[in-house]
Amino acid sequence: MALTAGAAVVAGASAGPDNGDMSTVIPASKKPGAAPLSFEDKLDRLAQVAVHSGLGLASGQQLVMTATLEAAPLVRRITEHAYRAGATLVTTLLSDEEATLLRFRHGAEAGFDAAPGWLYDGMAAAYRGGAARLAIAGGNPALLSKEDPEKVSRANRATSTAYRPALELITKHAINWTIVACATPAWAKTVFPDLPEAEAVTRLWDAIFAASRVDRADPVAAWKEHDEKLHARAARLNAKRYAALHFRGPGTDLRVGLSDGHLWLGGGMNAANGRYCIPNMPTEEVFTTPHKNRVDGQVTSTKPLSYQGTMIEKIAVRFEGGQVVEAHAAQGEEVLQRMIDTDAGARRLGEVALVPHSSPIAASGLLFNSTLFDENAACHIALGQAYNSCLQGGDHATPAELAARGANESLIHVDWMIGSGRIDVDGITASGSAEPVMRQGEWA
Ligand code: ZN
Ligand code: ZN
Repeated sequence: MALTAGAAVVAGASAGPDNGDMSTVIPASKKPGAAPLSFEDKLDRLAQVAVHSGLGLASGQQLVMTATLEAAPLVRRITEHAYRAGATLVTTLLSDEEATLLRFRHGAEAGFDAAPGWLYDGMAAAYRGGAARLAIAGGNPALLSKEDPEKVSRANRATSTAYRPALELITKHAINWTIVACATPAWAKTVFPDLPEAEAVTRLWDAIFAASRVDRADPVAAWKEHDEKLHARAARLNAKRYAALHFRGPGTDLRVGLSDGHLWLGGGMNAANGRYCIPNMPTEEVFTTPHKNRVDGQVTSTKPLSYQGTMIEKIAVRFEGGQVVEAHAAQGEEVLQRMIDTDAGARRLGEVALVPHSSPIAASGLLFNSTLFDENAACHIALGQAYNSCLQGGDHATPAELAARGANESLIHVDWMIGSGRIDVDGITASGSAEPVMRQGEWA
């Protein structure tokens, strides 16, 4: 699962509540068989599923939203749907990537350990007061790739530390939250480098609309059906009570022990505030918490990882006793090394997720350079923080209890892809026997 970003989205934010006084006209909803949906129709439907299927926004709830400047048209649509759903206040923090670059080019050396803690404390206060949280993803995945990796890493660490109290409320699902995507020129050019910018943006929007199911006759109903399928898959895996998963494929022979009392999740969930939300749109994964000390073997990434502005390609990592003891990458190795040096937990796994190779996002054949999409195209693992909700009774357990059951703790949570049409996955039972879970990337 992708988390609402503290770093990429809000760092360098030109923050301020959205005036929200621009009025837009909602197009009449189109019925099947009617004229094809216009771009404006689809954008509006995306906002609609974001508010209703993704966020599950309640009447009387406040909403805190983050986005980049380029996402303003989608921000306004979401704002309108939120108010129509009864939101009492929508507060949007818009960030500007150009301003972020100016910081790296001209900011004082001493400033790279700074983060707007006051802003994150305010976000945490909003969540504690019952606000919902929506993040719009779509920044330039390579924004910081040419900047000094040491400054990038210091800035990220400062942000992660300052954002932690707010992020904990997200990882514990204290509130309803979701992430949706918005095509931006810079992102689109990384997905379609050979196309002219306008065409690249159109193609990326089409892919986002398809993956977000807004091109279906009834998108809200389509999400409900998809959500039920993911729940059924998670229930089948929960019934198995596997002790470990064994991944085999080119460059990969990895045994991932699962935490004691692990829980497979997929699709939507009930937040502690009583709202039902689907935290990632799109989502195709079922996922759980590995045991932080029981991961062994070699694993190779099957897609590049966009990590806070840098592309890391062909990651090859060896685990021993749960810990990364060797890490290489064909590109971005320095950033990878700094990432796993963030803290003690950054070398251990906090998530393992299964996604069939036939997922619609994998079937698109696109590499999105965005975790929100690419993690839903392939089986993946995440270094760093575990989700308490992926342990039975985890949301009410103490940190010491969670750690004793194998849940990892870290400032980071970085998903990267290890699945493909050439990967086999076995479930290892408590008695040590192996059962096929996936063959050639598909459910067995
Ligand atoms: Zn995941
Ligand atoms: Zn994840």
